[in-house]
Amino acid sequence: MQWPCASVANADLRNRTTLHVGGPVEWLLEPADPDQLKEALVAARERGFEPRILGGGANVVIDDKGLAGVVITTERMDRIFRPLEPTGEDALESDIPTARVVHPDPALDPRLVVWAGAPLPKLCRAARDLGYSGLEKMAGVPGQVGGGIAMNAGGKDQDGTLWQMSDVVESIRVVDERGEYRDIGRAEWSPSYRDGNLEGSVITGAVLRFEPCSKVEVQEASKDYLRRKNKVQPVTEWSAGCVFKNPDPEVSDGRTAGLLVDQAGGKGRVRGDAIISERHGNFLVNRGKATASDVFGLIEEIQSLVAERFGIELECEVKLWRR
Ligand SMILES: Cc1cc2nc3c(=O)[nH]c(=O)nc-3n(C[C@H](O)[C@H](O)[C@H](O)COP(=O)(O)OP(=O)(O)OC[C@H]3O[C@@H](n4cnc5c(N)ncnc54)[C@H](O)[C@@H]3O)c2cc1C
Repeated sequence: MQWPCASVANADLRNRTTLHVGGPVEWLLEPADPDQLKEALVAARERGFEPRILGGGANVVIDDKGLAGVVITTERMDRIFRPLEPTGEDALESDIPTARVVHPDPALDPRLVVWAGAPLPKLCRAARDLGYSGLEKMAGVPGQVGGGIAMNAGGKDQDGTLWQMSDVVESIRVVDERGEYRDIGRAEWSPSYRDGNLEGSVITGAVLRFEPCSKVEVQEASKDYLRRKNKVQPVTEWSAGCVFKNPDPEVSDGRTAGLLVDQAGGKGRVRGDAIISERHGNFLVNRGKATASDVFGLIEEIQSLVAERFGIELECEVKLWRR
């Protein structure tokens, strides 16, 4: 079958996820820029497939049996730009996806134009090097910009302050369900907790706005956050980040999903090579040879455990891609 971009038939997806489980997909499409992504989406839909979009695979669990149809990976769309002069909206809009670096002084226009496949850690480093504040707390969050926006990745500080990807988003560019480009400004976009609410649209890129700051301050804040994250999460092990969304604090008496799992006795529970981390109750770790069946089974077991103990239904944050 001919596709408008690089493609691989029967492509193994296991090592394209941070949990390292899952089987092959019938077709993996690898667009290298936004136009190719748009064409790939249109081509897949014309052939009767509704493609799934894979970013860094840091929040998905893929079925062992593999997937029918098409997965589009944004891995090759790894680009970060600074906006072109002049700084007016028109200039910026016409520049995605081909903006080039021009401002000698980054503080004059503290924005970045990013494509969906830019890795979040690389974006954090780019912002730090330019002295842009806004993403310090994303230090240590794997994945890509498209996945980060689609999931509205983020977290909560100990004092209750919420931070999320949408804090720095000025606008996103998507391909909508009709296969057309659409720019969505921050004011008309309604992301929520761990959900970009994109309604079937696929992100090709975004314009991000930061606060100018000193590089040293950004660096220190990022290091500090990373240190704290490393203490409480099994960041060096194979996982897909937090398995469950935190429930409504009114229902859970303010307890996070991780604490509920811990209090219900879920830490250390095992299925095959999948285990609930002893370090953090909301992290499921693959010790090496876990299968997706182990992972799906363990997730259901923990949901039942918490429901029986506290009457609370934990909703998955990770996306389960079943055949
Ligand atoms: C060690 C570790 C720590 C983590 N820490 C955090 C954390 O602190 N906070 C947090 O929120 N998350 C965290 N995560 C989860 C993960 O890093 C984030 O959810 C990240 O944003 C996922 O990005 P991704 O590119 O890997 O998305 P993927 O896992 O590839 O995809 C996730 C979802 O987004 C969709 N998607 C991906 N790209 C696009 C696109 N271009 N357009 C439309 N939809 C798209 C996919 O279809 C899928 O539904 C962690 C994960 C790990 C492994």
